[in-house]
Amino acid sequence: MKQTKHTSARRGTYHLEWFINSRCDYTCKRCGSAADKQPASDLPLDGCLEALQSFVQFARDNGRDATIAFYPRQAEFTETFPKTLAAAHEFRKQGLLKQIKTVTRGDVPHEKILLFQKSGVDACQLTIDGLEQVQDTLRRSGSFQNTLRAYREARAAGIHVIALIILVRFNAPQLADTMQLLLEEGFEDVILQVGIRAEPGRYPSIAGTPSKPEDPDDLWNQSLTAVEYRSLLMDALRFLDSVGDRGRDFRAKLIRSHFMFARLFHELGRWEEYKELCGDISNGVHRLTFQLRPTGKVFVQRDVLALGSFPGGSFQKMYESSLALKLLDDNARLTHYQSENQKEFAKCRTCPVATYCQPELVAASSMRLFLYPDAHCWVAC
Ligand code: SF4
Repeated sequence: MKQTKHTSARRGTYHLEWFINSRCDYTCKRCGSAADKQPASDLPLDGCLEALQSFVQFARDNGRDATIAFYPRQAEFTETFPKTLAAAHEFRKQGLLKQIKTVTRGDVPHEKILLFQKSGVDACQLTIDGLEQVQDTLRRSGSFQNTLRAYREARAAGIHVIALIILVRFNAPQLADTMQLLLEEGFEDVILQVGIRAEPGRYPSIAGTPSKPEDPDDLWNQSLTAVEYRSLLMDALRFLDSVGDRGRDFRAKLIRSHFMFARLFHELGRWEEYKELCGDISNGVHRLTFQLRPTGKVFVQRDVLALGSFPGGSFQKMYESSLALKLLDDNARLTHYQSENQKEFAKCRTCPVATYCQPELVAASSMRLFLYPDAHCWVAC
């Protein structure tokens, strides 16, 4: 690796979400994927290694920590992923990568957990949809038990487990039961990702779900309205308020990680409690997230800002050629830009919790960002 250009360390992280392979042999109801329907033109191993080297060097040259989350599809792993993972592990051992995470379905087979362990994976983010009947209906028979087994195996292998609950109408009523199960099992790091029905022309808020009309036969396509989302947060809060001392960290983490709890606490007359729990959000460590697609194309935030591609690409050159990216990377400027942007929306201008609520990036050019109030917000425009 080349010598670093900057010696003074700046705070912050460059994070790469790496969708490393497009093929999947499973036919989950969620994405309806099947190997024979999918393109096989993924970035080959050489290109993956080039992208990895470029990303690590880029973070190092700019004095940032580098972290990577791999999203391998659930086919048998082809050699590209394990070899790229092994190369990432070498960077991890040299201290050039701060964290390696994998993000997969919950029911990861035993041998893949062993591969993750051998490859120095720090954290596995595993989806869980609900209790047995709900999860097996949404995924496949046996999915729930296999998910619990994978959670326990990953923990026994010394890997930190992050539970991802993707919520649509079908499993939303089971949120409290699912959180209770995770708490009892001792898995305290939980992320909620909620499918919110996008307004016409708006970006959908659930990963992997294209903006398409609702299909009554597709349970994954039954997203919530923002008002239903408020009821969901109320249910979650009722549960979190009941967990007592044993679930104190679980409760605090979940509330901090969902900005719309700010609005809810304010509406419930519990604002002082929220501020005490969440503190000054401006103290957070800045993180700029890139996405690398199986084709080798690089984006910021789910296809919103296209930057370039591998092979032949360079994260540093992409960075240098995008004013929008530099703005996203400058915490103070971005915060100012976001708050100025919020003022353009009447409901946000008068919102008592606006400083705790970040507008979403919905579109961008290399020169400019376009922000919009959070799609989860139930306050009428
Ligand atoms: S989107 Fe606007 S109105 Fe809604 S909580 Fe955020 S700042 Fe307030």
